[in-house]
Amino acid sequence: MKKKIYLLFIPALLIQCLSLRNGEKPDSDLIEIAKWSVNEGKLGTATILQQEQAKNTIKNIEETWIKIKTILPEKYMAQYVKELEIFTDGADGTLAGVKPTDESNESWSYGIDPADLPEGDWQNKEDFLHTLLHEFGHILTLNNTQVEPSELDFQEDEARYLTNEGLAKIDSYVNQFVQQFWYQDDLLFEWDKIQKTRNLDKKLDQLYDFYKNHKTKFYTDYAAESPEEDIAESWYYFVLLDKPEGRLIKNQKLLFFYKFPELVLLRTEIRSAIR
Ligand SMILES: [Zn+2]
Repeated sequence: MKKKIYLLFIPALLIQCLSLRNGEKPDSDLIEIAKWSVNEGKLGTATILQQEQAKNTIKNIEETWIKIKTILPEKYMAQYVKELEIFTDGADGTLAGVKPTDESNESWSYGIDPADLPEGDWQNKEDFLHTLLHEFGHILTLNNTQVEPSELDFQEDEARYLTNEGLAKIDSYVNQFVQQFWYQDDLLFEWDKIQKTRNLDKKLDQLYDFYKNHKTKFYTDYAAESPEEDIAESWYYFVLLDKPEGRLIKNQKLLFFYKFPELVLLRTEIRSAIR
């Protein structure tokens, strides 16, 4: 577990996604309520873990799942998402999360907190869409076509970025992204040093300083949390924003995605679903 200390605090090894400065700390009190197997995009058998809390959430699950599938690209969801999980840490905190179901990264669990589901139509709920698409960005960039299992504890080869989920393939999106953006100005080196800080408060302060010192490179403070979060955040803004003309590094990060026709297609597909 080289980096992203957040993972250590989360029982389900969920990829934790929240702002560094929202006043939210990584939440160790995430309660798993229920999970469903998913086959080709269809909900299967439910496993109820918290009877009491499940009562209110289960009856709307089909509707929620259909809404998620309306927004997120069907082909990818059907291929990778094999489990839907309902968890909660109360309102706010973690809205959604994803995790690979095993080390192969072939199948993923998509988790949502029913306490954070917006009322009515989701199409104009920007914060919520941000989270849904950000999480999808992890599946897109960390699945088994992108990252392979590895026994490595530390980054040993500069040519291949070591993620928490394994070693990035040379042509993977995240590897190309790291090569293009995180070796500039020794960013990866500076960030790796911060990962060694054991005190979590200090580490979050250092990460926030890191963000402030490189503000023109990141769309959000959370993007500075790691290359994996950076590519997921950049992916979201690639989908949401018009093609940028600016020369800032963060603009270049959006232009990065335009090099891949399949991602431009996904962008079009999602934009038509959310407009
Ligand atoms: Zn994330």
